[in-house]
Amino acid sequence: MATFRAVVVDKGEQGYGCGFRDFDEADLMDGDVTVRVTHSTVNYKDGLAITGKAPVVRRFPMIPGIDFAGVVESSSHPDWKAGDEVVLDGWGTGETHLGAYAQKARVKGDWLIPRPAGLSPAECMAIGTAGYTAALAVIALEKHGLTPDKGPAVVTGAAGGVGSVAIALLSKLGWRVIASTGRPEEADYLKGLGAAEIIDRNELSAPGKPLAKERWAAGVDSVGSTTLANLLAQTRYNGAIAACGLAGGMDLPSSVAPFILRGVALLGVDSVMAAKERRLEAWSRLDRDLDRAKLASLTTTIPFDKVIETGKAILDGTVRGRVVVEIG
Ligand code: NDP
Repeated sequence: MATFRAVVVDKGEQGYGCGFRDFDEADLMDGDVTVRVTHSTVNYKDGLAITGKAPVVRRFPMIPGIDFAGVVESSSHPDWKAGDEVVLDGWGTGETHLGAYAQKARVKGDWLIPRPAGLSPAECMAIGTAGYTAALAVIALEKHGLTPDKGPAVVTGAAGGVGSVAIALLSKLGWRVIASTGRPEEADYLKGLGAAEIIDRNELSAPGKPLAKERWAAGVDSVGSTTLANLLAQTRYNGAIAACGLAGGMDLPSSVAPFILRGVALLGVDSVMAAKERRLEAWSRLDRDLDRAKLASLTTTIPFDKVIETGKAILDGTVRGRVVVEIG
């Protein structure tokens, strides 16, 4: 296969463009492992790369796609050999390094992890970077000493990718989950994932007091901005919020009051550059704790052809849960 099918983002005189193209294998970037990509997914960041709505792409031309599952085709890395099944999340793929929306990828072997034994390649991408980030957030809350007996956990952006997986994980672990969504029509879906209570995201999106009535002990936030400020203001004494997203904005109009008067903690979650041990821990927790029927209920599968339109849809907030892209 000297050339293969890929989605390519480019920037030229006509502006920012994204389309399918035959890509020459010789133009792949440096790396010690070549992978035949079988599955990818559509994360919020992929929507940004496809549309150019935020400058996540740092090199042109770029193949977007921040995560994939696939099979090693060739390797000069000591950990990998042809035929190994692997998963990759982040490390700049789809941003600075040619990414996942292609039948082939060449990457650093250090970026790869083995496919978890209990998850198929399609299930790995149903989880994808959004789900692995949800697991990192849950682990961060646990490492902070939080347990379900301390009070409920709130999840914002509930019907999105990070939110849906976070609800499924937290409910399996015994938390009472409060799901905040702008899509009340998804209440049955969210309850099916394990949400005990649904609240309207408008409750959290208007500026509020620096401290308000204590409502939850823990939280996973994909929204940022005023929503995160209100989450902090309503967190119980010694509770914590794991912040992983900015779907509502990059700012944080908060005060120090929750930190200095209630001992609340704000835990930052980054999936892109997370060390390999943390990735392995998160994926093994997903393998152990994620209910497969719930995973199926939050997953939609699309053919490769539909990836560009789905990338646009995720920014409009119309994609529910997670999307698997069948590539190979
Ligand atoms: P999704 O689009 O699947 O989910 C985002 C959800 O946020 C939407 O479904 C919607 O939920 C809610 N939302 C969207 N717009 C707004 C708004 N203006 N105000 C309030 N809520 C809004 O995206 P992902 O789950 O893939 O990613 C979620 C966030 O997490 C993104 O910002 C992404 O960049 C970030 N992220 C960060 C990572 C990290 O390493 N830190 C890794 C992965 C993701 P509903 O309809 O239920 O209200």
